[in-house]
Amino acid sequence: LTQLFRPLDMLGMVYRTIRQGLIDMAAMFKLIDEPEEVADAPGAPALIIRQPSVLFDNVVFGYDPDRTILHGLTLEIPAGQQVAIVGPSGAGKSTIGRLLFRFYDPTSGRILIDGQDIKTVTQRSLRAALGIVPQDSVLFNESIGYNIAYGRDGAGDAEVEKAARAAALWPLIQRLPKGLATQVGERGLKLSGGEKQRVAIARTLVKNPPILLLDEATSALDTRTEQDILATLHAVAEHRTSISIAHRLSTIADADTIFVLDQGRLAEQGTHADLLRREGLYAEMWQRQAAEKEELSEAAE
Ligand code: ADP
Ligand code: MG
Repeated sequence: LTQLFRPLDMLGMVYRTIRQGLIDMAAMFKLIDEPEEVADAPGAPALIIRQPSVLFDNVVFGYDPDRTILHGLTLEIPAGQQVAIVGPSGAGKSTIGRLLFRFYDPTSGRILIDGQDIKTVTQRSLRAALGIVPQDSVLFNESIGYNIAYGRDGAGDAEVEKAARAAALWPLIQRLPKGLATQVGERGLKLSGGEKQRVAIARTLVKNPPILLLDEATSALDTRTEQDILATLHAVAEHRTSISIAHRLSTIADADTIFVLDQGRLAEQGTHADLLRREGLYAEMWQRQAAEKEELSEAAE
């Protein structure tokens, strides 16, 4: 009986959704998959970006009401800067990206892009402005070309190829039997973690957004590929605002500002040189990673 009721329930929900006429098709499908966490304010305007600055203003957030993850976090990111967020695992770094993309709303405090509270603008316009390369990229069960072009409506093959080349994917695509038309994902060709990351990077390059958020975007790559792609990402980031979340500190040492997060609080902030002089958490992490690197190269000899 429950089996019979479930589809009926769903139909009822879809019907109500259509009747209300409040949400678009994409949101409707999302409704079926999972409950909508946040909704557009009625009559919300689009986000308009002139200077892509980002401000986390005293943000408090927890996934569960009884466990706070971010404890009044303030991050000021001027337009056009390349900043980095580092800190121990579990500090809340990825949570910052999820809040910026508005998968969740803060418990208190505000997140502003170019002076506009992201809660007050449409999610569509917000998400169009952000290019996020997440820690674990998920591909659609579609062609690899579709997965790259998904970054922007109407992206042509030439653009897709350019992005694929920049993301060091082109040699792989050329070896595939059907090239860009090759099916990938669960029901197609299985790509490695590093290859999936590169698809996500290519997708972001096609999207060409004013604000980039790279969440350990090159963590699954070998050092050489990482160097190549970091060079690409640096070039792309130059004329926009970028936030790099990184585990390997050597990849973000040249950031304009490095925010050091510890247990949901801003522990330190400054340039690499500032933070080394401080001899705090960052300096400690830097020295530990330098020592590990030395051990590795000694082991390799
Ligand atoms: P980081 O990226 O710095 O390693 P995260 O932002 O992913 O840390 O996570 C911060 C904390 O929030 C961790 O303690 C993690 O277990 C918790 N957390 C992350 N995602 C969820 C979730 N969806 N539900 C509940 N807790 C979560
Ligand atoms: Mg993370």
